[in-house]
Amino acid sequence: MANNNDDQFKKVISHAKEYGYIFASSEIYDGLSAVYDYAQNGVELKKNIREYWWRSMVYLNQNIVGIDAAILMHPTTWKASGHVDAFNDPLIDNKDSKKRYRADVLIEDYAEKLEQKAQKEIDKAKARFGDAFDEQQFVTTHPRVVRYREHQREILARLARSLEAEDLADVKSLIEELEISDPDTGSKNWTEVRQFNLMFGTKLGASADSATSLYLRPETAQGIFVNFLNVQKTGRMKIPFGIAQTGKAFRNEIVARQFIFRMREFEQMEMQFFVRPGEELTWYEHWKEARLKWHLSLGMGEENYRFHDHEKLAHYANAAADIEFKFPFGFKELEGIHSRTDFDLKAHEKFSGKKLQFFDPEMNENYVPYVVETSIGLDRMFLAVLSTALQEEELENGSTRTVLKIPSILAPVKAAVLPLVKKDGLPEIAQAIIDDLQWDFNVAYDEKDAVGRRYRRQDAAGTPFCITVDHQTKDDNTVTIRFRDSMEQRRIAISEISETIGESISFKKWLS
Ligand code: ATP
Repeated sequence: MANNNDDQFKKVISHAKEYGYIFASSEIYDGLSAVYDYAQNGVELKKNIREYWWRSMVYLNQNIVGIDAAILMHPTTWKASGHVDAFNDPLIDNKDSKKRYRADVLIEDYAEKLEQKAQKEIDKAKARFGDAFDEQQFVTTHPRVVRYREHQREILARLARSLEAEDLADVKSLIEELEISDPDTGSKNWTEVRQFNLMFGTKLGASADSATSLYLRPETAQGIFVNFLNVQKTGRMKIPFGIAQTGKAFRNEIVARQFIFRMREFEQMEMQFFVRPGEELTWYEHWKEARLKWHLSLGMGEENYRFHDHEKLAHYANAAADIEFKFPFGFKELEGIHSRTDFDLKAHEKFSGKKLQFFDPEMNENYVPYVVETSIGLDRMFLAVLSTALQEEELENGSTRTVLKIPSILAPVKAAVLPLVKKDGLPEIAQAIIDDLQWDFNVAYDEKDAVGRRYRRQDAAGTPFCITVDHQTKDDNTVTIRFRDSMEQRRIAISEISETIGESISFKKWLS
């Protein structure tokens, strides 16, 4: 199973390069670790995901507005937010392999293996008992399943306790007691566990003496907090309201070996929702549900998502959950929903000396609002879409095709227009169709190779529609429209193309 998943992940990575989605950064210099460039198709997919998020957050919520804050912020921001003191990952080195790992991730992976063992027992029993299977009863009484799950809980609870207490020696002990070895080499020869700050530093100003030390923002959220009052006042916003933002964030990740899943430069799509104190947990539940709905609207399979409630809460949170997605390497965090309390605004009040409060006319009272945050990695979402979309299909005639079943609303190129042959005036008609469609859609022209090969090429690139112009077109102004997913072909009038594509990529259809 692990090998299949590895293979699938490798296929995704090489497909992403071959079809112009993702290149390694500065590849001619052998790349830069955990930094990637988005290529001609990748940039479109990324833009479309961002747009899908933005519309659902900002346009479809009358009480949410967007901003675009700078990447560079006043350095005190990061003192106030706690990032200077606490934005650390516990790292551990293997003395034999010289490889560096996140100590918490090694332990979490161990716990996940226990869960997989439990799941295996459940699947086995399910297959054996069929319809008569009572899962609830099975998981509470089957001794092995109960043992695996209890053990898993104990491990995660102890990890949470020791991280909370900053007891790094105990994290090391846990790794030793569980006999966790280097996943690459099997060696158990570990160093101590140390804390490592993830922020990238840089300098502002020309002369060495007067230069100010800055950080590249490790999250976009703080740009929202420091602008809370500006937006509230100028937008005449009333609580509850939200501020959304998409943009780059930077983290000097210790372990960055999973393609665009964990990058050093990445993009976040975050929304901070400001609410009355005491109402935050109701809104937290609301946003958990709303965000899961957004994911499900794309039709990438309900079974590929699950919630994971945090055991260890960050210093600012009173509740937190991840939406995990089934990536080729297993279920991993795709999005976080956090109830951040009034921690950030209070901290900025304290460090700036400025009041960051809201006068609530209904309560006739000033208060620092509480915040519920939704935070999703755009690149992780990209990987979720790409890895789910990439499929090898067996066809009826025994051949296989590689197809990228990207939801049409997100597809980089919506339609390719193909003249059947490169003569008889067909390219000119195809070009005229492009000239019309390109006002509304990103479309491509392709005249090289037999039409069957062109279909396959567009399938693999993820294009949902192919429009073929043939000799009949000259007689009756109709074309063949071919659908990527079903491979169905239909004859339609040239005048109907735009509407057919438009219907399939309507935001209203997808988001409602
Ligand atoms: P992880 O536990 O995987 O390191 P996190 O809990 O630190 O993630 P958050 O700080 O909650 O992540 O950030 C919100 C979102 O930003 C994450 O859900 C993820 O989608 C994205 N994200 C965080 N770090 C990275 C990264 N290094 N590369 C790509 N996306 C990231």
